[in-house]
Amino acid sequence: MGAGPRAGAEALWRLAAGFLGFVLPARCGPCGTKISGHGYLCPSCWGGLVPLAAPFCSQCALPFEFEAGPEDICGNCLMDPPAFDWARAAVLYDGLGRSLVLSLKHGGRVAAVPVMSQMICGSVMGMTETGLRPDLIIPVPLHPTRLAKRRFNQSQLLAADLARHLALPLDSFSLKKIRSTESQGGLNRAERFRNVATSFAIDPRRKSSLAGKTIVLVDDVMTTGATASACAKVLKKAGARSVGVVTFARVGRPVAG
Ligand SMILES: [Zn+2]
Ligand SMILES: [Zn+2]
Repeated sequence: MGAGPRAGAEALWRLAAGFLGFVLPARCGPCGTKISGHGYLCPSCWGGLVPLAAPFCSQCALPFEFEAGPEDICGNCLMDPPAFDWARAAVLYDGLGRSLVLSLKHGGRVAAVPVMSQMICGSVMGMTETGLRPDLIIPVPLHPTRLAKRRFNQSQLLAADLARHLALPLDSFSLKKIRSTESQGGLNRAERFRNVATSFAIDPRRKSSLAGKTIVLVDDVMTTGATASACAKVLKKAGARSVGVVTFARVGRPVAG
């Protein structure tokens, strides 16, 4: 797994900070305020994260504006169900939640990964309380061309850290992105589903390792669930028993169309 020059510099900084932590005060990643410990965020920035709280769609985690039961699903999931069985997200894709995602993806701020993955971990723990017993953690892959350009896959970093927290196996090889897709920005819901529909595949040599498995798919952000659904579709076709999705952030409003 590669990392951009800035990500590499941050990794080196983190390593150095491990040695120098007793001399140098830690600083909040987004605002630079001195903090005690190495939690990445100061109390004020913590306050800028909006946790995704009930009520939300039990299948795609879209927040509801009205009271709903824990099993209720949104209109989109009712009319046109995604291929995954459930989804959870730690925070809303808004304010600091949005800027953490963007600064990781486009700014290579990998120092945010531990705090983001710890929050994702909370979502998985919430599901294990309802009886979920995951077998495998799988990141949403990038197309090799995009990976070569960005040098790292943010979902892979989050998934690897999550797998470590949960002491579960990480599988970064079975699910592949085989077709490069145009950006989902500016597309309506139907177009987003069409855009990524056939862009993922399972490595045929690894198909047997997925059969009968309860899989947790990891991504940084969910908008309509189109990408996660395309991934879940091929994982289920390969024999996965169930596929759930956890993301750090969730766009809080439905995308039209
Ligand atoms: Zn701060
Ligand atoms: Zn839904």
